Amino acid sequence: MDQGGVPVDLDPIRALCEPRGIIVVEDAACAIGSRYHGRPVGAGAEVAAWSFHPRKILTTGEGGMLSTPRQDYADRARRLREHAMSVSAADRHASILAPPEEYLEVGFNYRMTDLQAAVGLVQLGRLREAVQRRRELAATYANAFAGVEGLRLVGDPGYGIGNFQSCWMEIGPAFPLGRDGLMAHLAQDGISARRGIMAAHRQPAYAGKDTGGASLEVTNWLTDHTLILPLYHQLALHDQVRVIDSVLRASRHPQ
Ligand SMILES: *Cc1c(COP(=O)(O)O)cnc(C)c1O
Repeated sequence: MDQGGVPVDLDPIRALCEPRGIIVVEDAACAIGSRYHGRPVGAGAEVAAWSFHPRKILTTGEGGMLSTPRQDYADRARRLREHAMSVSAADRHASILAPPEEYLEVGFNYRMTDLQAAVGLVQLGRLREAVQRRRELAATYANAFAGVEGLRLVGDPGYGIGNFQSCWMEIGPAFPLGRDGLMAHLAQDGISARRGIMAAHRQPAYAGKDTGGASLEVTNWLTDHTLILPLYHQLALHDQVRVIDSVLRASRHPQ
């Protein structure tokens, strides 16, 4: 999973899985425009999954996409999205005497509309610019908070670059407020931030399920000590300065 747009270090995962015949599916849902070892994320995956949900940098309102270099997977995915019909709707509509279709397995109705695809294609043309702008905004936050004790902003891992879909910040013990305190402080200034990404094992849906004895210390720490700063590619400088001022005031005036 390229969480928050930060590329995952896929090579060690593949090195573990591939000799064992385990296929690695990359969840690139929020990482469009991020790069891993100089290539777009998802490029090295047998299957990569993408999301075009409104929260993502490239959106079609809803929906998503699979990408794969394997023809057999692509053919099957195309069939499955259309009730697993043996002849695609486009092929049927293009012929006067359509070949009879068959249903070789049970499929889904997962079609994207042409209207959504048209919206997505226009956004694709703007992707580079949007990611560039987000990276500039993130760099402005990083510079502003570089000297503040207890704050640590998400950055590029050594092996790739992120799209800053989410601009995470860790609030450590040296900061005068905890994560929830800082969020409340921002809210008083009319600034809406969000908690960092929740951990699945702490959700009621998974309560009491076996986590294999893993303590998940890092996951738990980040769940409790991170927030996501306002960042969107139309964010104006004066609005970003308001956010920065509010955080800096919190760092100086413990409540
Ligand atoms: C958004 C997101 C999803 C879910 O995408 P949907 O379009 O809602 O299915 C899955 N994984 C990650 C990492 C995401 O960011």
